Amino acid sequence: MKAAAFDYTRADTLDQVLELLSHGGDEARIIAGGQSLVAMMAMRLARPEHLIDINHVDALAGINTASDHVAIKACTRQAAAMASSAIKREVPLLAAALPLVGHIQTRNRGTIGGSLAHGDPTAEVLLAAVALGARLSLASIGGTRTLNIAEFSVGAMETAILDEECLTEIQFPKPPSALSIGVAVDEISPRAGDYAIIGAAAELGLAEDGSCGHIRLASSGASPVPVLCGPTMEALTGSRLGDSEIDDAVQLINPLLSPESDVQASAAYRRRVAPGMLARVIKMARDKAEIKRTEGRTS
Ligand SMILES: Cc1cc2nc3c(=O)[nH]c(=O)nc-3n(C[C@H](O)[C@H](O)[C@H](O)COP(=O)(O)OP(=O)(O)OC[C@H]3O[C@@H](n4cnc5c(N)ncnc54)[C@H](O)[C@@H]3O)c2cc1C
Repeated sequence: MKAAAFDYTRADTLDQVLELLSHGGDEARIIAGGQSLVAMMAMRLARPEHLIDINHVDALAGINTASDHVAIKACTRQAAAMASSAIKREVPLLAAALPLVGHIQTRNRGTIGGSLAHGDPTAEVLLAAVALGARLSLASIGGTRTLNIAEFSVGAMETAILDEECLTEIQFPKPPSALSIGVAVDEISPRAGDYAIIGAAAELGLAEDGSCGHIRLASSGASPVPVLCGPTMEALTGSRLGDSEIDDAVQLINPLLSPESDVQASAAYRRRVAPGMLARVIKMARDKAEIKRTEGRTS
């Protein structure tokens, strides 16, 4: 099927984007990489009358590092973020999530901000953003506001972006530099490159004595939006991260889950698999952190 007719404006500045959005109401829509929006338009799941193309707005692309976070402009391509040495070094969890997002071709066009604005509940960028506690900046003609990811991602395919707003930047916190950091992201999906059925992400840091001094965890696929696994994080902070401790602690996410059945998997399957997937990424991240800790002692 082809999309219904629409007007198109290629914006050159952020001011122009905001001006157009302020007059467009709910009929105007930003197009970034088009990797989700164009398919939705072709299937008539979205029918915007006016597309505002932000791909040529210089102020919306780029990656900047600050002392405690890395700021990624919303229209930065997923492929550019994946190739960024700053992201590999400073936000290793996002770097681990990006290869699981679609395919090389979709990452070459798809953007970091587009993935978050689209709001698919198992999007890997969203999973990393929830795990790390990302902050998002939104601009409108009336000014800017910054939301944390829990305020931004309010439901499946639902965000707090207002009709007149453009997502401009996402800030991903860096892990503490004094610890040996390990990260892992894993998922079950029908085929490589597909959206996940169940996913999980872990970033943890080991102190010199081998105890867990930092841990960030999120689980996706068994809730309308990825959940931050706070009770498990609390239970494992300060621990030695033994296998049985991890296996017990991941069960603490059960009250946070509210899975639903769909064509891909039943709610019961999602509930059963989510804690195990979380345990798996914690153990993978722990093993990587342990190698770094040991290397640190011998170098
Ligand atoms: C074959 C295929 C496989 C895929 N597999 C995966 C996968 O495994 N995991 C995954 O996470 N994704 C997957 N995707 C989706 C892909 O990651 C998209 O890139 C992403 O969802 C949307 O980013 P985009 O830049 O293309 O946004 P667009 O499609 O241009 O826009 C998506 C939505 O976000 C809004 N939007 C975009 N930018 C902004 C902004 N700056 N401010 C406000 N609103 C904005 C648009 O108005 C639209 O509503 C897949 C896509 C395809 C085609």
